[in-house]
Parts: sequence; structure tokens; C-alpha cells
Amino acid sequence: MKTSQLAHFKKLLLSEQQAVIECLHQQADEIDETTDEVLDPLTESEANLLEKIELALVKIENGSYGMCVGCSCAIPEPRLEAKPSVSLCCDCQKEHESAV
Ligand SMILES: [Zn+2]
Repeated sequence: MKTSQLAHFKKLLLSEQQAVIECLHQQADEIDETTDEVLDPLTESEANLLEKIELALVKIENGSYGMCVGCSCAIPEPRLEAKPSVSLCCDCQKEHESAV
């Protein structure tokens, strides 16, 4: 993948990361105002998403971004464009989902 493309996806990932963090802060504020309970504002799916984004950012740095972790093929760019934190190609994703 070209450096300019990596920079593009890095920007997408950083803005996605920012959006998730802002969303979490908003939720934390709401919880503070409405209840006395101390809740973990980080839901499992958000924690997973943040983890995926961080992993993808690491991959951009070490040059393995855009490679499927299942079969090592190149993930099609439209797929990365739609979901920059994705780490599996379509086929491996299907296999992964049917296995669960
Ligand atoms: Zn694959």
C-alpha cells in the first residue's frame, strides 16, 4: 500500500477513534447526572472497536495494514474505506462468523 493511502486510512482511523472516545465521554456525563451508580461506561462493543482501531494504527506504523489476519491476502480497499479498522477479508470474516 502506498504511503499516501496509509496516511488516508490513518486519518480515518484517528477520526473514528476520536468519535468513539467522545461518545464515551458523553455517556459518562449522562451517567453522572442521572444516577449515583458507578457504571463502567465502556461497553464491550466500544472497547472492542477501540482495540481494533488501535491495532490498525499499529499496523499502519509497522507496514502490515490492509493485510487479512486470516489468510494474509490484501483486504480490498473499498472494504477498508467502509470500515478502516477491519482486519479480515470478506471470506475470512464469513468463516469467522459461521464459526462463532
Ligand atoms: Zn482473509
